[in-house]
Amino acid sequence: MPSQNEKHTCALCKRKVPVTTVHHLTPREEGGKDKPTADLCIPCHKQIHNLFTNRELVVLGLTTIEALLQAPKIASYVKWIRKQPATVIPKSKKSRHVRKAR
Ligand SMILES: [Zn+2]
Ligand SMILES: [Zn+2]
Repeated sequence: MPSQNEKHTCALCKRKVPVTTVHHLTPREEGGKDKPTADLCIPCHKQIHNLFTNRELVVLGLTTIEALLQAPKIASYVKWIRKQPATVIPKSKKSRHVRKAR
């Protein structure tokens, strides 16, 4: 078994993971093209977009990691994901209102 190459740190759950993806804290559609981004593990990134539409991220002010961590839905998710192994990508579902908005 090759050892896992866990050299990236997720900005949200702080786990060391093999790969991170770039999240635009202010969605590009909402003018965030040149705004800060965050490196997130795949489950965290999915979770954010499953829970919130791009519009909501801006309207609710969830455009910093600190603000995201204070959102109750994200806070309880982060608590849970921190206990999960870094190599597991849990199945996740979009909230109904997010699915509708697409
Ligand atoms: Zn994460
Ligand atoms: Zn994103």
